[in-house]
Formats: sequence, C-alpha cells, structure tokens
Amino acid sequence: MINRETIDKIMETARIEEVVGDFVHLKKRGASLIGNCPFHGEKTPSFHVSVSKGIYKCFGCGKGGDSVRFIMEHEKYAYPEALKYLAQKYNIEVEETFDYTQDTELQNTKESLFVASQFASQFFETQLWETDEGKSIGLSYFKERGFREDIIRKFNLGYSPDTWDALTEAAQAAQHSLEFLEKTGLSIKNEKGKYYDRFRGRVMFPIHNFTGRVIGFGGRTLKTDKNVPKYVNSPESEIYHKSNVLYGLFHAKKAIREADNCYLVEGYADVLAVHQAYIENVVASSGTSLTIEQIKLIARFTQNITILYDGDAAGIKASLRGLDMILEEGLNVKVVSFPEGDDPDSYMHKVGAGAFKTYIEENRLDFILYKANTLLADAGKDPIKRAGIIRDIVESIAKIPDSIKASVFIRECSRLLEVEERILLSELNTIRATRLKKANPNSGSAPTSPFTRAEGPGSRLDHWPADGPSPEELYGESSSEAVQSLKIADDLLQEQEIVRLLLSYGHELVSWDKIDNMYIGSFIIQNLTDVTFENDLCKQIIDVYRSEIENGQLPTANQFIKHPNHAIADLAITLSTSPYALSENWYNRHQIYVRDETINLKATILGGLYHLKKRKVDRILNQLLEEIKAETDATNQEILMQRYAYIKNVEREISKYLGSVIVK
Ligand SMILES: [Zn+2]
Repeated sequence: MINRETIDKIMETARIEEVVGDFVHLKKRGASLIGNCPFHGEKTPSFHVSVSKGIYKCFGCGKGGDSVRFIMEHEKYAYPEALKYLAQKYNIEVEETFDYTQDTELQNTKESLFVASQFASQFFETQLWETDEGKSIGLSYFKERGFREDIIRKFNLGYSPDTWDALTEAAQAAQHSLEFLEKTGLSIKNEKGKYYDRFRGRVMFPIHNFTGRVIGFGGRTLKTDKNVPKYVNSPESEIYHKSNVLYGLFHAKKAIREADNCYLVEGYADVLAVHQAYIENVVASSGTSLTIEQIKLIARFTQNITILYDGDAAGIKASLRGLDMILEEGLNVKVVSFPEGDDPDSYMHKVGAGAFKTYIEENRLDFILYKANTLLADAGKDPIKRAGIIRDIVESIAKIPDSIKASVFIRECSRLLEVEERILLSELNTIRATRLKKANPNSGSAPTSPFTRAEGPGSRLDHWPADGPSPEELYGESSSEAVQSLKIADDLLQEQEIVRLLLSYGHELVSWDKIDNMYIGSFIIQNLTDVTFENDLCKQIIDVYRSEIENGQLPTANQFIKHPNHAIADLAITLSTSPYALSENWYNRHQIYVRDETINLKATILGGLYHLKKRKVDRILNQLLEEIKAETDATNQEILMQRYAYIKNVEREISKYLGSVIVK
C-alpha cells in the first residue's frame, strides 16, 4: 500500500498536460489543450485537457478524469501502478507497506527482466571501454566508422566478447538468476540445460523504452563471414515488443516536441550519425518495417514526420506504399533522399555535420509531391504508366483525413501531372466513396459528402461540417424522427452551453453597458428567470447555482466537478473541459467565427443566452401556431394571435441582436 502522504504529493506534483503530453500531441486551443484521443481511433481532435482543472475529457468516446485515471486507462495499470509511474516521472520517493499479490508477481517478473537487461547493458559497455578485446575490436570499429566518443557513450554502445558465455558467466557471478536472462533472450539454454550467450563477438546497441530503461539489444557482427548474420536482435519478451518500440526515442522525445518534427531513419547507425550532426529529433524503426504502433508512438510527440531515405531507387519505390499508413494516421510526411549509394550515416560522415544539417533542411519534399516526382521520372513519356501513376497518387491523397490538406495536394498534383484538377477530384471522390462503402456496407442513408469522413457514433452533431448541408437539408424538411431528434439534441446542446459558461466564467467580474462590476454567474442566472430547462442534469446544476447565489454564495466549478452525484460530476467535467466543442457547432452553422471566446466574453455570454432563448421562443411560437389552427372559437383565436404577435416580436428582437452583436 502506498501511503497517503505519497499519494497527496504525487497528486500535487503531477501536471495533467505533462502526463498526457507524454502520450498525446497536444495543441493549445483557447483556454485548454486539445489532441487526438489515444483511446479511440480519430483523426480530428476531440480530446481536451484542462490545465487549470487537472483533467482530460474526450468528446468522441467519453473518457475523462485526472492524471492517475489517464495512466490507468492508457497503460492498463492498476491504481498503485499508475501512482508509481507518476512518482517515477516526478522523482517522488514512494513510501509503501509491502503487500504480496498476484499483480505484483507479474510486475516483479517484468522488473527482473529490466534489471537483467540493465546488467547486460553495463557489462557490454564495460567490455567496450575497459578490456583489450573490446577496445581493439569494438571501440576501434566505432571510431573507424567516424563516431565521436560522446555519441558512443550517450547511446551506451557496448561490445560482447567473442566467447560462448562471457555474459552468462558474469551474470551468474553477480547472482543474477539465469531464468530472467533467458527470458530476455540474452542467454539461450541448450538441450543439455547449459546456458550460452546469444550475442558473441558483436558491437552492441542497447534499445531503450521511452522512459529510458533497457529492454533489448541489437548486435552487429564484425566478422566478414557471409554465413554470420550482420545484425542479431533480441527476441520479443515481456518487456520488448518490436512493433511498438522506436530506437532512439528516449534520447529524441524532448527534441521532437521542441522541433515539432521527427526524423525517421532505418538503422541504429543512422540514428547515431544524425545525433552526431547535432540533430536530436531522430528515431529508427529498426528491426521491423514501420508499424502503425510506431507511427502512433511518434504522433504522441508531433504530427510531423520527415523520412530520411537511402539514395537507392529500388528501395524507395518499395517503401513508398508503406508510407500511406502515416498519411492515414493524419500525420504530415516529408521526405529527404540522399544521393545514390548514400544513407544518412554514410552521407553525414562524408560531408560532415554542418553540411549534413543544411542538406536535410534544404532537401525536404512533401511526401505526395516526392512520390509524384519519383514515379513520374520512372514512367517517362509512357501514357499508360502515367495514367497508373495518377491513380496511385490520388490513392495516397485519399488517405489524408484532413480534406483541406487533401485539396491542396490535388491542386499541386494537378500542376505536376498536367491533369485538370477536376479530373483528379472526381478520381478522389470515387476512391473515397468505394472506401466508405467498404467500411460500412449497410449505411446507404448516412449523410456522406466526399469530403466528410465517416465519424464515430454520436460524433455527428459535434462535427457537423461548417460548409456541408444542414441536417434539415439532408433529412428533408419533413418532421421526420431524424429532424425531431436533432432538434431535441440541439436544445440540449444550448442548455449545456449555458452550464458550460457558468462553470467556465461564473467568477469573472464584468462591467457591460448598464451592469457594473457584476459576476458573470449572477448575470447569467438573472437572465434565466424566464427559461425552463428541459434537460434534467442541466436543470439540477442551474437550480443549485441559483439557490447558492440566493444564499449569497458564488458556486465554483469544482463544487460540481466533485459533486457526489456522478452524473452531475461527469457533465461538469465534460463541460468545463470543453471550450468550444459544444458552441462551435452552432457558431459554425450561423457562420459566426469567434477566434477566442475570452476575447469577446460579452458576445460569448450573450450569444449563449440568446441562442437558448431563441430556441425556447421558437418552440412557444410553434405551439401557439398549432393552438391557433386547432382553436375554433373566434375570440379565443384572437387572443392567441395577439400573444403570437407579441412573442414573435420578442423573437425578432433576439434575432436582430444575434445578427448584430455576436457577429464579430
Ligand atoms: Zn476518445
């Protein structure tokens, strides 16, 4: 059990943006940070982080909570594990009373594998720097390749002696259990039950996970014998899963975030070479071809990948298709290729660090254009080959989730391929339509414009495209169920918007026109006397807020976030982490663009209030119309019509107000 003081200390120290930021690339938007949700597949961000409240919330899948919750969900950790993770991140000493459970057994196995790997890493390093064999074979190899000592040390490079069991013996002598050495793949057990080393006579590249612990190794032979594989890697283990490890990420992550770009190379030596040129935001997919998991790993830190290619034409063509995967994840891909016969490693050593840096900065090409150029050069004047290329390029463009970005590429490729833009667009639409049909074969009636992605369930309202048709247009003017449910949902959105404004800005003091030094909370409540809330949760929050104000207290957002009623707490978390998600929808529909709502707080608050009022007034007007139609008595009809005229006037005033003031 971790003691209370430690937990408190962890909670005080952990910053939500840093904890989440290790896994999700966050961008500032208004008062909060947003990014692509790590819990459900999405290409447009609906994952919000509120720094001031220390919480996150996803509007796509609904997940939300604090730092500990995030680590538990994301890393599939139990509560104490998540706390320990945070403690490690912030160098907080964990005080606990020991408790042996099954969970800790698995944890202990993993821990033992980490310890065994760390021991091996240190052993190999010592061999490299301190033994005759290591110095004369291993170290001199790295130096001949042109690597500086600081780079060799930074990456903890090592040497495994050319004997059968140097490491195994050393581990045994140091009281390490061979069971764990075998589980990491460092030792292999033969039929007679005798252990021997996997890596023999090789220079060693330890592979770190992104918190910096050694999880595996790559070993390069220094023998010229063709029968010896050039590289041997650690097998998969409980701590090493090739498909979601990137070599060099531990040393690169800070630089990747700072540069907002990640260089991707092929091998260990390439990573070292690029570092030696003082470029630290570089990783390698080493050991596997690039996987989706690795791309997602990069996407935690940046949306921009620059691939550094070997200058070998056949290799380039083969890998072009694989890169569509990165586009599909919504990342931006640029490519730098090196002169024929050179890879980043050889080129850096050939031209030197300075010239290398300049070269990659000046030779970056957007992937789509790079692909078009490469394929075009290959096809020459052959019209059939050229037609194939067009299809191939548009296939890639169709993978880009952001339709604006895609249309920019269509334009550029139209120039490059000398094909009319409209032909490329129609090709693009065909590909997208086919893909959509394949994705949901039974969704004949779903609204899909070629530039609208199919979104996850429930997200349609939140992400209604600003330039797309309105729901009414799509579903027809009839009061079908669809329209009805959309309208009720709209009511809910506007009621929630009021609650959001209360929670976000209730404590701001303002002076507008006739009001002087008033809290926004009081102002909103005063303006709601004639409004009835339909949604039960919203109504409860408003009622509590009102009664507190009547008792001379101004409620805080935290009061609702920590409310014992979970439904209220959840709604409060959702709403107070969402600067725009709810309002953006109707701002867009009314073609109102508010860059940052805090800049024009008055317009934001009044906009929220008046939109809600307009919605309520519209309802009353509709009801009155029905009543007038149904009324047979002339006098009664007259009274109803007067009432209608009066309310219609109110509606006009509201509309006029919305039209004049809010549009800023
Ligand atoms: Zn989500």
